Amino acid sequence: MKTYNYSDLSKANIQQLVQRNVDPANEIRAIVEDVISNVQQNGDRALYDYANKFDKVTLDKLYLDKAELTEIALTVLPEQKAALDTAYQNIYKFHETQLKTEGKIETMPGVTCWRELRPIEKVGLYIPGGTAVLPSTFLMLGIPAKIAGCHEIVVCSPPQKNGKVNAFIAYVALMLGLEKIYLAGGSQAVAAMAYGTETITRVDKIFGPGNQFVTKAKTIIQSTTTTAIDMPAGPSEVLVIADETSNPKFIAADLLAQAEHGIDSQSILVCTSPAIATAAIEEVNKQLSVLPRAEIAQQAIDNSYIVVVDNLAQAVDFSNQYAPEHLILATENWQQVTDSIINAGSVFLGNLTPESAGDYASGTNHTLPTSSYAKAYSGVSVDSFVKKVTFQHITAQGLQNIGPSVQILAELEGLHAHANAVTVRSPLTP
Ligand code: NAD
Repeated sequence: MKTYNYSDLSKANIQQLVQRNVDPANEIRAIVEDVISNVQQNGDRALYDYANKFDKVTLDKLYLDKAELTEIALTVLPEQKAALDTAYQNIYKFHETQLKTEGKIETMPGVTCWRELRPIEKVGLYIPGGTAVLPSTFLMLGIPAKIAGCHEIVVCSPPQKNGKVNAFIAYVALMLGLEKIYLAGGSQAVAAMAYGTETITRVDKIFGPGNQFVTKAKTIIQSTTTTAIDMPAGPSEVLVIADETSNPKFIAADLLAQAEHGIDSQSILVCTSPAIATAAIEEVNKQLSVLPRAEIAQQAIDNSYIVVVDNLAQAVDFSNQYAPEHLILATENWQQVTDSIINAGSVFLGNLTPESAGDYASGTNHTLPTSSYAKAYSGVSVDSFVKKVTFQHITAQGLQNIGPSVQILAELEGLHAHANAVTVRSPLTP
């Protein structure tokens, strides 16, 4: 991993360091636009073709029904079910509290305004399944969708080589009470959920992380269709802040936990202690050599770097510019700087809080904004699956109170019909 000294870096250097997953030649965009237009024109036919081309499987139908999912889930072992159950309970518990109703506000006597939650009716969940199968992502998206009360939940996941989904994905579908999983991956799945095909229903909003093709497809359909997206959640990344109180073994394990996601993942270490940084690199090499996904993790580590800073305040300053999806304060001194964190998807505090706890089972959501989108986006929550509709009710007394202001404002904007909507009601005021 390349090491930089924060004090030697110019603004332009920092700008370059924090940039990631840019597609300067628009290569990914060109591929994805082609896929989207093929799905839009050819529907299911295109999905069968892409399953062949990208997932190397010939499908005879594009979905698995409840009976098939039940059959596939039979191989899940009792201890695996128990772990999924624990994750389910904790995620449910944490997200359930987000379904808060707001009170009614009387802005003037007789003028009452309030907001009510309404679920988004049709949602599409993308569950990645290229290099790793992620039942945890299914829980992270399915549980808030259920809590929100979404009427139709469409789920797409890439088919495995045997033309099915893996047993854990099937088991989670049953836990969530879902009837079907569609066998489509990548940008073609996003296009199918945005436009609809003969088999897959068009949805109002698409959720879920994925590789660069998935993320690019989501950003394209967001601006070209009426289907919304949760956020751009692309290749995973972590930024670890460390000092002399940090444990190099823990740091290395956290950096590698992110690196094994994919070759385009990033694991950044920002450290006040050059000695700890050096020890962490040694640990990375040691732990990497025994990882089953070492080849992937190595490429991601090669694409990562270390920044040596003078103090924790400087570390947080760099982190706020990077805006990481995951931020770990791997130090005993985390309380000193927590308030200065502005841009991050999810934050892990102290030496005993591994990011993988949040990935799976502590309760928080792991579908988070990447590529510096944490500057403006939050991670997925129940809020992402609902709309907040405003309501108001005005009494005769209320109309008398608010009417003159509305009439004057309407007249000054030259909108006489607006003013008249109050005037025609005025005889009814006390
Ligand atoms: P994936 O399901 O996202 O992508 C697999 C699909 O990509 C394939 O089915 C195929 O259709 C498509 N594809 C592959 N090569 C292609 C090509 N050359 N052209 C067009 N399409 C192609 O699975 P993955 O690849 O394993 O990626 C999962 C990603 O999700 C990782 O990058 C991981 O870091 C990320 N992730 C992010 C979060 C988050 O919250 N941000 C959470 C979990 C995972």
